[in-house]
Amino acid sequence: MPQKPLRFALVAHDACKSKMIEWAQSHAQFFDGVDVFATGTTGGLLQDNLPGLKVTRFKSGPLGGDQQLGAMICEDKLDALVFFIDPMSPMPHDVDVKALTRLAIVYDLPMACSPATANCLVEYFERHAAG
Ligand code: PGA
Repeated sequence: MPQKPLRFALVAHDACKSKMIEWAQSHAQFFDGVDVFATGTTGGLLQDNLPGLKVTRFKSGPLGGDQQLGAMICEDKLDALVFFIDPMSPMPHDVDVKALTRLAIVYDLPMACSPATANCLVEYFERHAAG
């Protein structure tokens, strides 16, 4: 029986966007069978740089995109969140960032906030899918 595609949310703050693209490209084969959900700008860059990727784009993070992803978590519509948070800049939508990470914790959704931990997530799901 065919398995349902994994559902990954990908979000990166501006200072981390190139890191996100590089990271996603390094896992292009993995993302071949994955449904990606992203905030607006991150999603646009992913589409431009990985044309084969299946991306659903939401609003930009500061305009509600983080909250749209949070709603998906509440509705059990995501399997993982990769959120490259900029640790060096104050953010006008800091409350949204906090809400999204908080919901990931509340619902025990696998979440990675750096390339090293995101690699662990991918390895986990690859092993899991392989049985
Ligand atoms: P963006 O949003 O992908 O639209 O830049 C990310 C964020 O700041 O949460």
